[in-house]
Amino acid sequence: TIAHFPAVKTLEDFDFKAQPSVDQKLVRELATGRFIAQAENVLLFGPPGVGKTHLAIGLGRAAVETGHSVLFTSATALLAALAKAESEGILKDKLNYFAKPKLLVVDELGYLPFEKRSAHLFFQLVARRYEKGSMLLTTNQMVGQWGGVFGDDVLAAAILDRLLHHSHTLLIQGDSYRLRQKKKAGLLS
Ligand code: ADP
Ligand code: MG
Repeated sequence: TIAHFPAVKTLEDFDFKAQPSVDQKLVRELATGRFIAQAENVLLFGPPGVGKTHLAIGLGRAAVETGHSVLFTSATALLAALAKAESEGILKDKLNYFAKPKLLVVDELGYLPFEKRSAHLFFQLVARRYEKGSMLLTTNQMVGQWGGVFGDDVLAAAILDRLLHHSHTLLIQGDSYRLRQKKKAGLLS
């Protein structure tokens, strides 16, 4: 239900051989949806182009197939929606909206640093969902960089503390899959 996936990607068409740093066994386990029943989180770390969004969509689809409500959003869109709701005096409604789905997928955390106010809004959402509903986050920033992302070390630590407490983490390494295709085509040396 209500998913808003940005593209058609499945776990079946993810080439695990091309990305040996991805723990395929863990991905298969996550696809069962058990982590959602336990309100656990999933954090996908890695540089651009390594398949984070692909896996996030694939796992989101698997969650829908196992009967869970899923909402997919980018970090930027999420924060813009919360900031707008706050300025309109309807923050509570918007927090409810994002707290409701059993799985909330937040893609591309860290590409843009948050405004101080946005970091507080994100904290409120994470605190609302903590031990109640799962979040699946993708990010290009290692946890040591999150203070910079949120503009505040204390806030970043509080957010991370809750996200990581009951969580599965996947660290994806290697070259961008996108650039690899270009290299194959001879466009890059
Ligand atoms: P990221 O979110 O980490 O920047 P994406 O998930 O958007 O990367 O991946 C970039 C492109 O490469 C997408 O079209 C994605 O489907 C594809 N891709 C990445 N890794 C793989 C893989 N291992 N197998 C198949 N396609 C992949
Ligand atoms: Mg991405």
